[in-house]
Parts: sequence; structure tokens; C-alpha cells
Amino acid sequence: MTVVAAPRAAYIHVPFCRHRCGYCNFTVVAGRDELVDRYLDALQLECRALEVPRRVDTLYVGGGTPTHLSIGQLRRLGTLLDRWFIRSEDDEYTFEANPADLTRDKVDCLADMGVNRLSLGVQSFQAEKLRMLERDHSPRQAAGCCEMVRRRIANITLDMIFAVPGESLSQWQQDLQRACEQQVPHMSVYGMTFERGTMFWNRRRHGTLDEVDEQTQATMYEWTIDHLSAGGWQQYEVSNYARPGWRSRHNQVYWRGEEYFAIGAGASRYVAGVRETNHRSTTTYIQRMLQGRSPVAERECLDVVQKARERLVLGLRRMEGVSQQWFCEVTGISLDELAGADLRRLQSLGLLVEENDHWRLTRAGLMVSDSIWVELL
Ligand code: SF4
Repeated sequence: MTVVAAPRAAYIHVPFCRHRCGYCNFTVVAGRDELVDRYLDALQLECRALEVPRRVDTLYVGGGTPTHLSIGQLRRLGTLLDRWFIRSEDDEYTFEANPADLTRDKVDCLADMGVNRLSLGVQSFQAEKLRMLERDHSPRQAAGCCEMVRRRIANITLDMIFAVPGESLSQWQQDLQRACEQQVPHMSVYGMTFERGTMFWNRRRHGTLDEVDEQTQATMYEWTIDHLSAGGWQQYEVSNYARPGWRSRHNQVYWRGEEYFAIGAGASRYVAGVRETNHRSTTTYIQRMLQGRSPVAERECLDVVQKARERLVLGLRRMEGVSQQWFCEVTGISLDELAGADLRRLQSLGLLVEENDHWRLTRAGLMVSDSIWVELL
């Protein structure tokens, strides 16, 4: 039997940034602060389409840089979200923030709004690497920011990037060490990727930017896992590490393949079995909302098998893997029936293991996980 539960999670996209970093392919507008108030009007209209306030356990405001908004605009956004999303008592309410935009007053404002988790887009604690990434904060600002946030919000997560062009293994080791010294309970650590359409993609194509070689990238990733594990961190997903009891609840909704609301430019929601993605262009999104038109650019109704395959891939991203019994309960299909042959082939290659009713990645599988997803989808 397929179990359908109403979404208990919501994502809100705020696309504004000071400038666009060379590697970024998110839905972002830079230097268009004059659009913020109209964007908030548009979000308000999209929320109204929910018809009634929705109860959620997790609320995640991401971007872009939500903390690029002024305090008045942050308060307006907070009031709007309070009106449409009724948070449970033990909620997780996350805001993404950038060290360059965050002030003591903004931290106070967020904490007063009920925000209890802050995701800091630090990326690095090394000046040269931050310059290469075109980030507009210094290592000192990043460290000071952790200190400042901790006064009001204990649940801090840092985003870090490795394998940035020109970076050596020992530079990465020092950088991660600095991140560990910040005494935060959660970290997301990503390898550098070159996404089509970004400045970095073009620079690589023209030979002015060199990718770190594959072997060094793999060594950096393995060292990250080993170093953090030895320091008491739990790797609970391909790129995520937490102190015991501090895992991100919102992201686990995605990895369990559960449904979620999403509002804003480029936002992608999954409600009643349908995946919808809003227009990526912020101006088009605003225009459509203010004209009373739908913000949706793509709509995809997944069939039972597609949904189940997605759920398998998302679930395998977690280190605990996918329980066969749970999978059958939530999708109505047994893992064996859905992908038994694929799973066993990957097992024979040493990339997956079946253990105690769970399928999960091995260390070798973790190193090549992106190629496994392609095979299973
Ligand atoms: S701050 Fe983040 S969202 Fe904004 S452009 Fe840079 S990487 Fe992209």
C-alpha cells in the first residue's frame, strides 16, 4: 500500500545576492536590490495560492542570499511565513546567510523571528581561495561570523568547498581544520563542480582555469571523510556531516523522497505526487505573479516506478542506505522487483552492499556515487 502524507516541509527561495560568484548556477540576481519589495509581493501572492495555512516541521529559506535583505524586509518575510506556515513546537527553521551580509542586528532579527538554524556560506577560511571563488568575505569575517551567530543561534552549519582550481591536498587539509575549529555542529562539504553557463565553465573551456586532477579530488574527499569521522563527526549523507543529534531535518525530507512545498523564483516543489518548478528568471517570476498568472514553468507527474526509482537514489545518498521493508511500505514496490538486477550488479562491483535489510553505498561506491545514480534512474 502506498502511504501519502501531506508535506510537512517548506522551502522558500530568495534569489538576491551582492554579486554572482563565478561558479554559481543557482537561481540568483545580483545588484538588483530594487526588485526585493516587489519580489516579496510576489511571494505573498504565491503563498495565498496555498489557500489555508499549512503545518510544517521544517522551514528552509535559501537562495541566493536571504540575509542580503534589509532588516525591514526580513521582518516582512518572517511575518508572511508565520501567516502561511504554522511551525510545530520542535520546528527546524533555517536561513541561509553569507558572512559579508550578516550583521549583529540581522542575527538578532532572525533569532527574534524564531529562526533556530543558520547555514553559513563560508566555503573557505583561506584568503587566496576565497578570491578565486570570487567570494566577498575574508577568512577573519567568516570566523567572526560564526562567533556572532553562536550568541543567539547554536545550530550553525558551514558550507565548505574543496578541489578549487589550484588547491593542493595540504591546503585543503588546513582549510577543513580551520572549519573544525569553529565549533559548529554541522558541515556540508562539496567538491568543486563546473556547471554549464557559469563563468568558471567558460574559463575552463578557454583553458584559463584548470580543474584539480581526479586522483587529488578523490584523495581530498576520502581524507575529509576520515578526518571528520576521527573527530567525532557522523557522515550521514554523501556531502553532509553532523555532530550526534545535529543532522539537518529539512534535507532528510528530500533524501527520504517525501513531499514538500516550495515558493519563489526557480523553486521546485513536490506535492500530491506532482513535481512543479517555477520560472527561474526572477523578473519573469515577479511579473507572472503580479499579473495573476501561474509561476510554474515545468510540471511533471511521476509514475509509480519513476517515483520509486527517485526514492531509491535519494535514499542511497544517506549512509544508512535504504531499508527494503520501508521502501516497500512507502512505494508499494519491492526493491528486488524495481531494481534487483541493477543492485546486484553494483554489489558485484563492490559499490553497494546489502546488510540487515538495507542496501547502502560502500566506500568505493561513495567515491563514484554520481555514476551510480545515473545507472539506477
Ligand atoms: S553568494 Fe551563493 S548564491 Fe549568491 S552568487 Fe555566490 S554562490 Fe551563488
